[in-house]
Amino acid sequence: MKENPKISVVIPVYNEEDSIEPLYKELKSALTGLKKTYEIIFIDDGSTDRTFKILEGFHKKDKNTTVIKFRKNFGQTPAISAGFNNSKGDVIITMDADLQNDPKDIPRLLKEIEKGYDVVSGWRKYRKDSVITKKIPSKISNIIAKKMTGVNINDFGCTLKAYRREAIKDIELYGEMHRYIPALVSWKGFRIGEIAVKHHERKFGETKYNMSRLVRGFLDLISIKFWMKYSTMPLHFFGTIGLLTASIGFVINAYLTFTKIFLNKPLSERPLLILGVFLVTIGVQFITFGFLCEILTKIYYADKKIYESEKILR
Ligand code: UDP
Ligand code: MG
Repeated sequence: MKENPKISVVIPVYNEEDSIEPLYKELKSALTGLKKTYEIIFIDDGSTDRTFKILEGFHKKDKNTTVIKFRKNFGQTPAISAGFNNSKGDVIITMDADLQNDPKDIPRLLKEIEKGYDVVSGWRKYRKDSVITKKIPSKISNIIAKKMTGVNINDFGCTLKAYRREAIKDIELYGEMHRYIPALVSWKGFRIGEIAVKHHERKFGETKYNMSRLVRGFLDLISIKFWMKYSTMPLHFFGTIGLLTASIGFVINAYLTFTKIFLNKPLSERPLLILGVFLVTIGVQFITFGFLCEILTKIYYADKKIYESEKILR
């Protein structure tokens, strides 16, 4: 039986026909230098150019190269997820196919992993991208992400990362969540490290993302934050809002009832009544919605753990 490689390199590729040849060469030389067994997994995410043909060529010549061809363009997160699912290494490294990440950084990432980190994230300290469309927006979103997730890294968006297999074993990826894997993993108690990595200008092809990624990235962040905090107790979230709004509504209605009964003020001329009734109604709805989510939580966690143990000594 073939032995599992020590290192898996996962590379999502979407229309990068000019970049992958030089990338493959650089990657091979970096990996050979490591003197460890390795595999390279390319995921062709529905490319419409010559990408797959070229990847097929690598596969024919190189038994360490796996190529997964998607039926259509599913996106970078599904591509990374497919890479994870098909990888066998103890350490999994993800990187971009456009030559913006540098394979020469791989040994440094591995060194950090050996120090005991479960995830080591690359930080494009001197990022070679447009200032207006990439650098400034990414700076702001990284500050928000750091604050919201409590994960102390400077660059969530850098694909060049190394993961110990245990850390990503049960990770559930969907949407565009690949940027926040460190947050999901740190929530389970794994250790996250970061090192500065090289970054190069995009020489060939073009970026696959535009500014709308910022809005979507922020929404993903809210979703992650909610998940990290309330996935096992959604009623705490919805119930708190519900109790608060219902109580304010109740106080307003009690006040109006009081003025009606004791001061004889007619309710017909009190617009406040609408607010009071509205707050009680949505308050009750929030609480019942919370109950509904609790039922979903029960179903979701029925076959899952709500904890992560590092070791068990029996
Ligand atoms: N990518 C992909 N599927 C997509 C979009 C991008 O596999 O739908 C790949 C792309 O080929 C590249 C990496 O993900 O290898 C990062 O994309 P890009 O360079 O466009 O992002 P940027 O560096 O501009 O943030
Ligand atoms: Mg790029």
